[in-house]
Amino acid sequence: MSNALRELVASARALVEELAEEGIEAFPRTAAIPAPAAAPRTESRPAPTPPETARATTFSERPSLDEVRSVLGDCTRCRLSEGRTQIVFGDGNPHAAIVFVGEGPGEQEDLRGIPFCGRAGELLTSMIEKGMGIPRSEVYICNVVKCRPPGNRTPLPDEVTACRPFLDGQIQAIGPRVIVALGKPAASLLLGRDVAITKIRGTWHAYHGIPVMPTFHPAYVLRQYTPENRRLVWEDLKAALAKARER
Ligand code: URA
Repeated sequence: MSNALRELVASARALVEELAEEGIEAFPRTAAIPAPAAAPRTESRPAPTPPETARATTFSERPSLDEVRSVLGDCTRCRLSEGRTQIVFGDGNPHAAIVFVGEGPGEQEDLRGIPFCGRAGELLTSMIEKGMGIPRSEVYICNVVKCRPPGNRTPLPDEVTACRPFLDGQIQAIGPRVIVALGKPAASLLLGRDVAITKIRGTWHAYHGIPVMPTFHPAYVLRQYTPENRRLVWEDLKAALAKARER
């Protein structure tokens, strides 16, 4: 499959997931277009690569980011390592009061090794710098998985499980006052249950005692670029900033 087609499929899947969250399961047909005959399914899915469980994923009680990065090493704990250009660990202030957690690196991030440096990243950076009024370098930004999922698909549960200790380690190392979960995969992981981002965004939760504010993923905001969505994200970020500044 070409990269363009893979990306189209990934964004179609994300849109279907967003609509499903809104309770929309089908659209009425607008014209009498005959349904195409179902193509015979000849493709079989490749067997998933078993996660590499033998490698250590333990850190000291309050690790440094360098320690977490060095335990991660040249990771091959899950199949995402096979397609990556490089690991995208995280970016920003190791003592940040606010940590942003996204889903996983996209194409630009995979090429440059920096989280949120593509189109969604430009929007996130402008929300942080112009909206919240702080330099991006003051916060810390990372993802649930550190390697790009093929075609930007949502990370699979075993990939999330394999990478989880490193997100936990990053949060332990930084000890932020607030975490902003960008989108459903980050919010579901941090809240420990499958959540509908449209239902829980804007409400406070906790991850090991750290306040978590779930909000829309910037890629979703780019796809649904409405004044209402921008206002909602802005409300969530304002609340996160106020919480981080509480005495
Ligand atoms: N989307 C994410 O979730 N993370 C990135 O780093 C870039 C896009």
